[in-house]
Amino acid sequence: MSKIYVNGYGGYREKRDGSGSFIFKFFFGLFIIVLLLGGGLAGLVTFFPPEGVPILEYHKINDWSDDEYTVKKADFAAQMDELRAQGYETISILDFLRAKKGKQELPKKAIIITADDGYKDNLTDMLPILEERGMKATVFMVTNDIGLPGYLTWDDLKEMQGRNIEIGSHTANHLALTSMPPAEAEDEVKKSKLLMEWNGLKTIFTLSYPNGKYADYMPDMLRRNEYLAAVTGDPGLNTFETNPYLLQRVNIPRPHLGIWEFRFRLFKAKLCAVLGLFKH
Ligand SMILES: [Zn+2]
Repeated sequence: MSKIYVNGYGGYREKRDGSGSFIFKFFFGLFIIVLLLGGGLAGLVTFFPPEGVPILEYHKINDWSDDEYTVKKADFAAQMDELRAQGYETISILDFLRAKKGKQELPKKAIIITADDGYKDNLTDMLPILEERGMKATVFMVTNDIGLPGYLTWDDLKEMQGRNIEIGSHTANHLALTSMPPAEAEDEVKKSKLLMEWNGLKTIFTLSYPNGKYADYMPDMLRRNEYLAAVTGDPGLNTFETNPYLLQRVNIPRPHLGIWEFRFRLFKAKLCAVLGLFKH
């Protein structure tokens, strides 16, 4: 038995020999395994990079709200600079679909930037940062929120379409499509598309499922309503083999670990692609 002092006044408790070293060995072993596994996976992704286009998922870009959906302007700018440093060039979802049909060439490292919900800051704060870098993005708008305080207006949306922003639908009411009967879900996607087109926006070809939730019947429903693609919340990369109505995304919430967190999120998407997780 050995004495282990637990305070500075001579108090102690006794402990069986070896238990401390067992715990140490256990955690040290675990640490080594995690390190080897992490190193192995990082090597796998680095030396056998998976094919596919990442689609980043943002919501708000500003310096005045501080919830998990808000990325500060400086962080967003740093993330865009990181993409350029890694050799990425932004494309729209339509560029991706045209390339799939052989009608357009994609850059060597293509990436798609998307923002859900249609917040006003997408125009006032996100767009200038993109334009300074010659980058483009897709914004998914909830049609019943158009013109509400904090959200984009009809004029904003038209202006953005003229400034390299692709506008897609995020349904009429932002309700999970899986929580309603199919006929109602169809109404949500049909009405939002038609309303935007009737109000003078360019044709709406893309949809973002509210909360990333979808059901098996939805790709057919979207095809029927003349959508060409839809994005989910499932992590991964997208190739021409990926179901265009179940595109995978890399969620980018408010970072807590700076640019390393951003790099890790991109890495995670590549890892999912290498391991074939969530593949559609
Ligand atoms: Zn949303």
